[in-house]
Amino acid sequence: MYRRGPLAATVLALAREAGAHTVTWCARYDAASLAQDREVQAVLEEAGFSVAIVHDAPAVAPEQTAALRTDGDGRGYRAFAPYAAVWALVPRVPVAESRVPFVAHALRSDALPPSSQSPGEGEPCDETQALARFDRYLAGPVLDYRSARVVPADGPTARVSAALSFGVLSARTLLQRVAERARDPFLLSEERLALAAFVRALAQRDFFLQLAWFFEETPDATLQPRMRDFFFAADHPALAAWRAGATGYPLVDAGIRELRATGWMHPRVRLVAASFCCFDLGVDWRVGRDAWDDALVEDDGALASGNWQWVAGVGADLAQFPRIYNPHKQARALDPRGTYVRRWIPELAHVSDADLFGATPPDARTQVPLPLYADAAYPARVVEHDVEARAFLARYARFRAPARG
Ligand SMILES: Cc1cc2nc3c(=O)[nH]c(=O)nc-3n(C[C@H](O)[C@H](O)[C@H](O)COP(=O)(O)OP(=O)(O)OC[C@H]3O[C@@H](n4cnc5c(N)ncnc54)[C@H](O)[C@@H]3O)c2cc1C
Repeated sequence: MYRRGPLAATVLALAREAGAHTVTWCARYDAASLAQDREVQAVLEEAGFSVAIVHDAPAVAPEQTAALRTDGDGRGYRAFAPYAAVWALVPRVPVAESRVPFVAHALRSDALPPSSQSPGEGEPCDETQALARFDRYLAGPVLDYRSARVVPADGPTARVSAALSFGVLSARTLLQRVAERARDPFLLSEERLALAAFVRALAQRDFFLQLAWFFEETPDATLQPRMRDFFFAADHPALAAWRAGATGYPLVDAGIRELRATGWMHPRVRLVAASFCCFDLGVDWRVGRDAWDDALVEDDGALASGNWQWVAGVGADLAQFPRIYNPHKQARALDPRGTYVRRWIPELAHVSDADLFGATPPDARTQVPLPLYADAAYPARVVEHDVEARAFLARYARFRAPARG
């Protein structure tokens, strides 16, 4: 059943049509949605319905980990490692036992939106298809997850972010499937480590969801109070080039072009491309996040903000120094054969490995000729990474100097 209209009024009308007593839905985790949910709750309660908002998006509800916390103010965790340790201890309710029996209702449905508004090409829209795809992933490719997560050409990651963000798949179901897979007695120890790494990725998702739940301001405000006054620019002369995948740094550009072409970017390349935005260009994490929000198929504001803040060094796991990635060295580590870069940047398809990843990258002022279109070229580097990274570090060190507390 599908209904279109202003949220609170539409849900209220539906509750009345269905003769409901209680209205229940899954919590959402970005500030705008949290505010919207509260508004719907108030409208329904005023009209005499009772409301139960449940945590179905994470595998472990924010309150469950917060309840096990012995230190702090009960507002949840700002660091992933202690969170993950507690997350692993929370007893899991088998998915079958927690299923709610739904009663079929012949409620009027509006027409479904046109397929151009569906989550994304190739993205399964129903649970059966999505689970079948995930089961195929679990049968084999997941066993290489640890290297696939780092090296794009080493195999696929699970590609479940869109299905998770739209509720097509549930994190608890995925974890249950992974636990079943881990019962295979013939798994090699590295393969067990791969499954554990995948479970940790889902813990990371829960971590960022609980962060948004307990620190409601964080989707737009910097999590770490002491970093709130640190200056990031709203713009940079090369920002348009970064958005377009034309910075002259192949790994950064390949990531952005992958995103523009498919609505998804490899997880590790996201770190490098986001780092370039925040540190090489000194541009605010919110600007980068919003630039990607338009292009990503997945729609998970809490995960986007949490990760962008983490990269910018102002969010969870505050480190002593910002984690600045060198895009040239990362390209050599993540894409040693240039497979990924050549796939997304056709201009570089015929450039030699030495030029692409050699110890001495091409001079910033020289352009690599574009073989396919004689009059165009792969752009020169828009900034010098070393210079910008060191200038950023110096500014950061001055800001964090003990005098500031
Ligand atoms: C700068 C930046 C921005 C990001 N923006 C988003 C976003 O808008 N939406 C989004 O869903 N993810 C985001 N991520 C997290 C991660 O990159 C994606 O979830 C992942 O690339 C999705 O591909 P996958 O399903 O193949 O991941 P896999 O590696 O197969 O992981 C399985 C699932 O674990 C979860 N997961 C893995 N890594 C993370 C992580 N770092 N944080 C939170 N959950 C994680 C995701 O739900 C993911 O689908 C971002 C990461 C970075 C560094």
